[in-house]
Amino acid sequence: MSKDELSKKIRALLKERNGILLAHFYQRDEVQELADFTGDSLGLSFEAAKTGADVIVFAGVHFMAESASILSPDKTVLLPRAEAGCALADTITVEALEKEKKKYPGAAVVTYINSSAAVKAASDICCTSANAVRVVQSVEEKRVLFIPDGNLARYTAKFTDKEIIPWGGACPVHQDLTPEEVLAVRARHPGAKFAAHPECREEVLALADFVGSTSGIIDYAGKMSGNELIFGTELGILYQLRTRYPAKTFIPASEKMICETMKLTTLEDILKALTAMAPAVKVPEAIRAPAKRCLDRMLTVG
Ligand code: SF4
Repeated sequence: MSKDELSKKIRALLKERNGILLAHFYQRDEVQELADFTGDSLGLSFEAAKTGADVIVFAGVHFMAESASILSPDKTVLLPRAEAGCALADTITVEALEKEKKKYPGAAVVTYINSSAAVKAASDICCTSANAVRVVQSVEEKRVLFIPDGNLARYTAKFTDKEIIPWGGACPVHQDLTPEEVLAVRARHPGAKFAAHPECREEVLALADFVGSTSGIIDYAGKMSGNELIFGTELGILYQLRTRYPAKTFIPASEKMICETMKLTTLEDILKALTAMAPAVKVPEAIRAPAKRCLDRMLTVG
């Protein structure tokens, strides 16, 4: 089936089922093109919370579909590729978190949204890369266990007086970008600005003109002086950058920055999921209620 035929069938099924297609900025171009809403984790969480649709098709990874199910328990949440997980979220379990909490009694647990529903349920408040500093500042406790991304934890610690205790997790896509790679690309594009995602390692962030979430990087690309931007995040962001700012030039800091699980979902998978209304993600109520408190606290901070 051609891309146009697939898109038409998906659109027709979305209409029939009163569904909405949400796609993360790291998804394939054709999936982002068809989506009703594209965004980063924070934007997609807000969208999942406020939509009036009965069915949410989540083109993303498992923890994102879980967040949609937590926020909208009465809706059917479809994750077209059930095996699309997040290597960063997998770096911490509830058991490991409980052990860490015992080591630091009285510390607030701030949990990056890239985590399982069960880990969120055992945490105090969620954050994303867009609001991590605001979230840390919002908690009363002076000491914060920041999980699971160690790079984001260390970056956030620079903007607060609170004691941040990082968990040692990392996103392999961002962690693997080296300062040498960035310097080599910069040498080839001496006039270009460099924007990096805070999941990158500290030495890479030190080279950046701008550090921010994927939506932050997209905004920066529009506002920056100059026409060339080197970006240190997953390659899927190129679709948004080129669509929004066709007159500017965007250069990946590394061609290897591809999240394999984000790239699993195809238009065929979306069509199959909408036809079969499966695979669905449903968070059990015993986990959903405490996980929702954790997400709601974050949504209040903004
Ligand atoms: S890019 Fe990294 S953090 Fe994002 S889904 Fe992939 S593995 Fe997880």
